[in-house]
Amino acid sequence: MIQVEEQLDAVLARYQAVIGLEVHAQLLTRSKMFCACSAGYHDAPPNSHTCPVCLALPGVLPVINRQAVEYTILTALALDCEIPEFSKFDRKNYFYPDLPKGYQISQFDLPLSLNGHLDVLVGDEVVRAGITRVHLEEDTGTMHHAGDVLQSATSSVVNLNRCGVPLMEIVGEPDLHTPEQAREYLQRLRQVLVYIGVNDGNLERGSFRCDANVSLQQPGALGFGTKVEVKNMNSFRAVQKALESEILRQADMLDRGERIVQETRGWVEAHGTTISQRSKEGASDYKYFPEPDLPPMHITRDMVERIRAELPELPEAKRRRFETQYGLSAYEASVVTQTQDDAGTFETLASGVDAKIAVNWFMGDVARLANITGVKLQDSGLGVKGLVALLKLVAAGTINGSIAKGLLDELYATGGDAVQLVQERGLGQVSDAGELGTILDEVIASNPNAVNDFRGGKEAALQSLMGQVMKATRGRADAKLVNTLLRERLG
Ligand SMILES: [Zn+2]
Repeated sequence: MIQVEEQLDAVLARYQAVIGLEVHAQLLTRSKMFCACSAGYHDAPPNSHTCPVCLALPGVLPVINRQAVEYTILTALALDCEIPEFSKFDRKNYFYPDLPKGYQISQFDLPLSLNGHLDVLVGDEVVRAGITRVHLEEDTGTMHHAGDVLQSATSSVVNLNRCGVPLMEIVGEPDLHTPEQAREYLQRLRQVLVYIGVNDGNLERGSFRCDANVSLQQPGALGFGTKVEVKNMNSFRAVQKALESEILRQADMLDRGERIVQETRGWVEAHGTTISQRSKEGASDYKYFPEPDLPPMHITRDMVERIRAELPELPEAKRRRFETQYGLSAYEASVVTQTQDDAGTFETLASGVDAKIAVNWFMGDVARLANITGVKLQDSGLGVKGLVALLKLVAAGTINGSIAKGLLDELYATGGDAVQLVQERGLGQVSDAGELGTILDEVIASNPNAVNDFRGGKEAALQSLMGQVMKATRGRADAKLVNTLLRERLG
């Protein structure tokens, strides 16, 4: 796709792309936003997680899920937002079969939080992306169209299990200027939400969803260009591809003197392009008004501080701490802090052995095994503690690195005690100069050619002799010591 990248670079040299992202993230609460139904609807039979409230039967009243409010505030604090003292819910009115009430309970002019930001590392550059607001609403049901798409469907069925699941909307400022920045922003945002435990970060299942607003601005122009909303992107890659395609489409129109229409477009992965879905509604079309069935919320400062105290160390802070505390490179630190689990695993390893050794094994052989087997270290037979025990044997000189690698592969799959195995199989490193000396003398005596080559200046011949010693000791010899002793003997 070199072609697209070149085209994009050329376009971005002529126009400034302005990208703002809206993320919808389902909250990991046990129950739904306004009723007691379970919010864990995935894999449940259709319409089994429903009740009179989320089915919108007459005469029922919603009750606010306190946990959802607290999770939203926790997220807002992680994004450095302000939390106003007063907030309320509003009705957003529109008709669609997946919304039985005929309106969505959302937040309009008094959201739970405002004015935050998220710093995103793109290449070597830190981009600060503003967060306009984080507010709370309810998810809709889902539609299934016989014949795949609505336009050609012969019938459609609705599943209201998702209807009323707590949904957080994170509205970003239009501070992003390339598809790559947009992708990095989303990856970082998802990481934060998963870190603080409010969202599972699953794009494929739609518990973390993203819409983008894109416009192009001509140099020297006042104000933004006409923005187009892009939907239907269900992977980070799709977001990047969809934005690339949309920027190229708009640039092409502007180059030909055409006008951009304000509309919503859907990304079609198979065609690699966006297609027009509908003209965009403005806020006035939804006729927002305060939700009369719910009281306004008073968010006390005590409550905010109590929630703030629950914030775990965030990925960025952890990454910086790992750099200074463990002497990791920026890259190493970002890899091992990818998830809370990984960071915890690394810290356990680093508490038992040198951090450099820990990070090398974690990012090397352990990552390789996790990839091949699909099982993380903490769930493997070896476990984190088992690996610490194994690495301690290496650090103490009890076994050498290649024996340790062999044991790692075996124990990862089957489990077992490294210390015991080393004893039982006699895998302990041979580092006794006397014992090694006898073996060395035999190897020297039976390999006169290699000995002559080495004495004649061929360094490589020493490797061949060392290989013979390793063979004789079944790989258990202390390589450093063998090297020294051989050099002594061959003078
Ligand atoms: Zn319900």
